[in-house]
Amino acid sequence: MAMSAGPGGGVFSLLLRCFLRAEQNLLRALGVQPLHPALAPVSCPLKELDDDASNNVPSFLDSIFWMAAPKSRRTIEVNRCRRRNPNKLIKVKNNIDTCPACGHLKLKHILCGYCYEKVRHETHLIRREIEAVEGGPFKAPTVETVILYEGEKPHPEDEGKRIIERKRKRPSWFSY
Ligand SMILES: [Zn+2]
Repeated sequence: MAMSAGPGGGVFSLLLRCFLRAEQNLLRALGVQPLHPALAPVSCPLKELDDDASNNVPSFLDSIFWMAAPKSRRTIEVNRCRRRNPNKLIKVKNNIDTCPACGHLKLKHILCGYCYEKVRHETHLIRREIEAVEGGPFKAPTVETVILYEGEKPHPEDEGKRIIERKRKRPSWFSY
């Protein structure tokens, strides 16, 4: 079967397949069982023989990516039962409380976000003040820091501590 190699090999195998198919149809129409497997077209041996570029055109089925698909449609009742399942609905929260300091709503046993943001902003400003005084974190003295607000005097026990002064009144929530 080496004769099928070459440019005419593809045409030859196509003609062979057409002839075999026509023979099968003829035999089936006459009520005669086709002479399988002796005359069945086998794609693999022919493919191995016709390995020139003209026969390597990909089939239509080769370009399809087969993947799993649902065998039957789910009814709208089943879909609604799944979507409206009580486990998927938003739970009612009973642990909401008001902040005793500012009155905003917050979860019980959790810091109030509004108060936390106030303290965080004030701490950020104090850090900026420290940076302006000392010029960098590596020059910080290894002593305790005391923050003095407007109109405050250092206590006698603050001797030798780092003193940072803020030009504003002390907030009620920022203890000494
Ligand atoms: Zn609060």
